[in-house]
Amino acid sequence: MKIHEYQGKEILRKFGVATPRGIPCFSVDEAVKAAETLGGKIWVVKAQIHAGGRGKGGGVKLARSLDEVRQHAGAILGMQLVTHQTGPEGQKVRRLLVEDGADIEKEYYVAALTDRATQKVAMMASSEGGMDIEEVAHSTPEKIIKVFVDPATGLTDAQATELANGIGVPAGSVAMCVDTLKKLYTCYMETDASLAEINPLILEGNGNIKALDAKFNFDSNALFRHPEIVAYRDLDEEDADEIEASRFDLAYISLDGNIGCLVNGAGLAMATMDTIKLFGAEPANFLDVGGGATTEKVTEAFKIMLKNPKVKGILVNIFGGIMKCDTIATGVVTAAREVKLSVPLVVRMKGTNEDLGKQILKDSGLPIISADSMAEAAQKIVAAVK
Ligand code: GDP
Ligand code: MG
Repeated sequence: MKIHEYQGKEILRKFGVATPRGIPCFSVDEAVKAAETLGGKIWVVKAQIHAGGRGKGGGVKLARSLDEVRQHAGAILGMQLVTHQTGPEGQKVRRLLVEDGADIEKEYYVAALTDRATQKVAMMASSEGGMDIEEVAHSTPEKIIKVFVDPATGLTDAQATELANGIGVPAGSVAMCVDTLKKLYTCYMETDASLAEINPLILEGNGNIKALDAKFNFDSNALFRHPEIVAYRDLDEEDADEIEASRFDLAYISLDGNIGCLVNGAGLAMATMDTIKLFGAEPANFLDVGGGATTEKVTEAFKIMLKNPKVKGILVNIFGGIMKCDTIATGVVTAAREVKLSVPLVVRMKGTNEDLGKQILKDSGLPIISADSMAEAAQKIVAAVK
């Protein structure tokens, strides 16, 4: 799960990391009022969307007067902000963050993330922070340094000092940088994040270290123990079909092909997608209805799949273990009737209550094509959509 920058900064502050003062806003008037409340002479108006690269896309602007705050807020709010992370259609800006302008001496990059290769948390840092970090990672990867943290000891002073010195933090600011890195690590661990990134982490003219941006991803399997993070969820930023699927506890990911698949179990779902590809077509989605799906859940799964206009045929592949074939069959029939199914449907089911399930499909009178093996099912649906 992702959150907005202003929410990320609230979390960082809770863990003692210094950030600029800022106020989230939902309208131009609120933005002007926020700047007045903050006081001072220079502000930064920042688009809040769940994607990076906002600066380059025109979503981060400095304002030197309240009039400029009004102008920038007016231009950014409601814009379709296109960045390298949003795709060409961009993302509509619905929230702003108005902050104290920072006095930037130098921009660094620091992040905590899960490193699968070492099975540890990696702390990364670079002297080349700011808006071109992707380019740095691509062309001069040696400018990104990493340490891997032993979970028993946590990030040690020695490791944090190695990072701070490695990115060239001036001697007088190393202690504050070390403190920030250790707080970032603690924050990452305690919130069950999978990514906690500060880019840029800045050195101010007065030698202080501050987080000017904040990007978090959280492990959704751990969200049950973080209601305060779940409360940050912004559904406007998420794929509508995937939200709908998650409401019913379905694992659904949209893909680019034209064959919808409804499967129980992630392994079988992946094998089903492979089989479709093997016979020359492409899946329109990954969909795992889980082991204990109800008729209602199957019906919803069907509806979500069929909302995708690219879907030209559906393959249902079920192994009836805990999940019984008759439950799936009832769901399939209910859903097919409810959505007035107009594309070919192939069903392959094996296991518990298989005969009962097949009978339900047959008695429905719907034009359902049945198949016995996975290969046969894939061949039939591929043929049917051609
Ligand atoms: P991103 O492009 O989505 O990563 O957004 P950031 O929050 O990182 O902002 C992009 C860039 O805007 C930063 O790298 C800074 O160079 C600049 N920036 C952000 N806040 C300030 C500020 O308070 N003062 C100044 N001078 N520049 C800022
Ligand atoms: Mg940034």
